[in-house]
Amino acid sequence: MALYQHILIAADFSNHTDMVIHRAKALAAANNNTRLSLCHIVEDFPLTDFAYEPMISVDADMRDALLNAGEKQLSLLGEKFGIDTDSQWIEFGSPGRDIVRIAEENNVDLIVVGSHGRKGIKMLLGSTANAILHHASCDVLAVRLQDES
Ligand code: AMP
Repeated sequence: MALYQHILIAADFSNHTDMVIHRAKALAAANNNTRLSLCHIVEDFPLTDFAYEPMISVDADMRDALLNAGEKQLSLLGEKFGIDTDSQWIEFGSPGRDIVRIAEENNVDLIVVGSHGRKGIKMLLGSTANAILHHASCDVLAVRLQDES
């Protein structure tokens, strides 16, 4: 039996996304072509004045526009890498929390994410890869990415 039955790729649409997907595809191929899925989380980003509370959050229209744009991006990635639309999820929320939830709801046994290997203060600020590693009940593969800076 294959080591993994269902691999979920967390795609943030950065320049590193292809590399993360290539790594996941290689793993899937080595595991009897196990099921591969893609997900993207559109984040809410409240505009904040440093001295005050968050002032403006994403409204419903903007949220729909962002979800539609994200859906197109995800579907292009799916076409490029041969991942069906019924194995693609796009949602509005928090990547660290919602990627783990999507994995649990769909019997995923490996989540593949990119990792920038932040150090010092950047690490203290946290990262999506870190959040997933801490909360996922399944295995997590953090693909080391080379930072530009
Ligand atoms: P970050 O911690 O934001 O540098 O992201 C590390 C990795 O987490 C990325 O390479 C993606 O695999 C994943 N990730 C980050 N943000 C998102 C997102 N909005 N949707 C899906 N995956 C994400």
